Amino acid sequence: MDREDLSEAIIQEVSAIVAEDVRAAGPELLTADLDGMEARLQQLSRRVCGAMLERVLAVRAVPRGERPPCPTCGGLLRLVDGARGRDLQGLTGDATLVRPVYVCTRADCGRGHAPLDTDLGWGAETLMPRLARVVCRAGITGAFDEAATQLAEDHAVAVGGETVRRVTEAVGAVAEAAQQAEVARARRGDLSRPAGGATDMVVAVDGCQAPLTDGWHEVKVGRAAPLGPATRTDRRSGRTYLAWGTAAICAGLEGAEDCWWRVAVTAWRAGLGQQTRRVVMLGDGAEWIWTRAAHFLGGPDIAVVEILAIFHAYEHL
Ligand SMILES: [Zn+2]
Repeated sequence: MDREDLSEAIIQEVSAIVAEDVRAAGPELLTADLDGMEARLQQLSRRVCGAMLERVLAVRAVPRGERPPCPTCGGLLRLVDGARGRDLQGLTGDATLVRPVYVCTRADCGRGHAPLDTDLGWGAETLMPRLARVVCRAGITGAFDEAATQLAEDHAVAVGGETVRRVTEAVGAVAEAAQQAEVARARRGDLSRPAGGATDMVVAVDGCQAPLTDGWHEVKVGRAAPLGPATRTDRRSGRTYLAWGTAAICAGLEGAEDCWWRVAVTAWRAGLGQQTRRVVMLGDGAEWIWTRAAHFLGGPDIAVVEILAIFHAYEHL
């Protein structure tokens, strides 16, 4: 099969599916309201894109003759199945990938391997990366079951709440590992305030109670952003203030010291650098925040302006 272009046969096949589906949808489209039209077209699009995806994958799955080495140990691979199917679910459509799978011949390794899955960037999940990103975002912003309902409504994809949980937590684990690696470098002194940065920064730190499976725990959260030079004017009060730039946020179930290291590397990423001269620190009255703010955010050439949220000041009056 020609690898440079999609074969004429595939183009004809997909065109025939489009024609068949458009014909089948015709009567419904001509009587539906706008909401019904979009739902039907979304269904049509998923079927056509899935069919197209499956054919493209079939072209990619044709063995090229060479046998790859084992990616784990470099040993020889033995073909166990020349055409093993694996279902995948995508944002635009679903398909089955049929490709060769191998097993390592070295007794001390013996790992199974599908080289095409690796080439395509496909991991252990059924979801394709683009859908996985959408699922993860939905899982971050809402309860897992509600996110699944919303995904069915918005994208016509059937994903269970348990899948939303698994994907969201897996992505979270990767992000957390990357952040902990940064924190470890910062603690060793291998990572510090980057060159450049914003002249003024704002950093807000807070603790909030979250219900976990073993009761309520304090989640410490931080948000950092460049401050100004653009300004905003509040319409009601008429007061003008420096606008927040793009913020970086962080959160952790941890003690004060660990949290502050996390806030520091997050602030560096958001723009707290060698050029920064002032950091505005916002917080409630918690002692763990004030006793460390100047140490983690300030420096010989950085003034830290600490502002207490007025609501918490009222509590003490
Ligand atoms: Zn091996």
